[in-house]
Amino acid sequence: MGDLQPRAGVHYPRSTGEFQSWFATDADCLDFLDWLRWPGGFACPRCGHGGGWAVADGRYKCAACGKRTSVTAGTLFDRRRTPLTVWFTACWLFATQKDGISAQSLQRSLEIGSYPTAWAMLHRLRSVLVRPGRDRLSGTVQVDETFIGGDEPGLAGGRARGKKVLTGIAVEVGEPKGIGRCRMGVLADGSAESLHPFVTGAVEPGARVITDAWQGYRGLDGLGYVHERRSQAAARARGDDPGELLPAVHRVASLAKRWLLGTHQGSVAEAHLPAYLDEFVFRFNRRRSASRGMVFYRVLELAAGHDPVRFQDLLAGKKPHPAPVARGWGHPPSLDRPAANRPWRTGELQLQLPIPLRLSEYPRGVL
Ligand SMILES: [Zn+2]
Repeated sequence: MGDLQPRAGVHYPRSTGEFQSWFATDADCLDFLDWLRWPGGFACPRCGHGGGWAVADGRYKCAACGKRTSVTAGTLFDRRRTPLTVWFTACWLFATQKDGISAQSLQRSLEIGSYPTAWAMLHRLRSVLVRPGRDRLSGTVQVDETFIGGDEPGLAGGRARGKKVLTGIAVEVGEPKGIGRCRMGVLADGSAESLHPFVTGAVEPGARVITDAWQGYRGLDGLGYVHERRSQAAARARGDDPGELLPAVHRVASLAKRWLLGTHQGSVAEAHLPAYLDEFVFRFNRRRSASRGMVFYRVLELAAGHDPVRFQDLLAGKKPHPAPVARGWGHPPSLDRPAANRPWRTGELQLQLPIPLRLSEYPRGVL
C-alpha cells in the first residue's frame, strides 16, 4: 500500500453494517485479500514477475514461470479450512471490540464446532500483531518489572495454581504528564542480563529512561540512554509514596492484569502469556484510534503479510483448555449465506395458522 493512508468507507468499513454488506460472501473476502496483497495486480511470489492469469481452480498462474499461487498461499489464511467469512468476522470482532474477545465468546458467536479451533484462530491473529522492525519507544520512558499471572479465580475447581511470570514494562510518559505507547515482554529474571536486552529492544537509544534503583538497571547509560534512577529511600525521605515512583508503568500493569482477568477470566497459561501481552500492547497503543475499522484493516494487512502459523507452533508445549462443550474437531460453517428472504413472512408459523390473521376482523374487546 506504500505510504498511502487507507480511507474509511473505501479501504475499510466504517461500521458493522458496512462490514456486513461488504463481506457477505467468502468470494467477497477473497477478493479483498487479493486487493490487499496485490493492489497493483498479481505478482508472482516465486519469480517476482508481475502478470499472470486466473486459472480454473481459482489460483493465479504466473505468466513467466508458470507457478500457480492462491490468494491465501503464504499468508496467515493459508490452507485454513475455516471459511474466510468466519475469519473476517473474527478479525472484525477482535479489532472492533474495545477489550477484544475470548475464545469461548468467539466459538459461541460464530458457531465454531470446537473450542481449540476458536482458540487457535485468536492465537493466529495475536501472532501477527508484532510487526518486525516496528518503532521503539522514545522521549521519556519509564521502565519497571512486575509479576503477572499466579492464582486466578474463576477457573474450574475454584482457583487454578498458576505461576507468576516476571514481565518487563516500558511506557512513554509525556511532560508534564500523560501516557504514550507501551511495550511489554516476559523476562527470565531481574538481572541486568535480562533487563538490558528488554530495554534495548523496547526503547530507542537517546531516550531518557527512568527506573527505580534496582541494580539490574545499572549500566543503561553505557547503552546510549540518559538514565535516571529513582530511589525508594529518597522518595520516603521526601514524604512521597515509594510505591508510586513510576506511576505510568504501574497504571499500564494494572490495566493489563485487569484485562487478563476480565476478557480472559485469567485463564492464560504461562506459555501463552507473551501472546496475550502482544495483544494488550497492540490494543493499548491504538486506544485513541478514531476508527476501529482502521484497526481491523491493520490486523488483516498484518495477517495477509504474515507467514502461515502451524497449530503445533501455537501450542508452545501447552494444550488449550479443554472445550467446555466438546463437539469434536469441527470446522465452522461459512457465514456466506444467501439472502434470507424475510423468513418471518414465509415461516412455518403461517402454514400452521388455519385462518390468516386479520386484526380488523377480530371481535371488539379482544385486543
Ligand atoms: Zn513466477
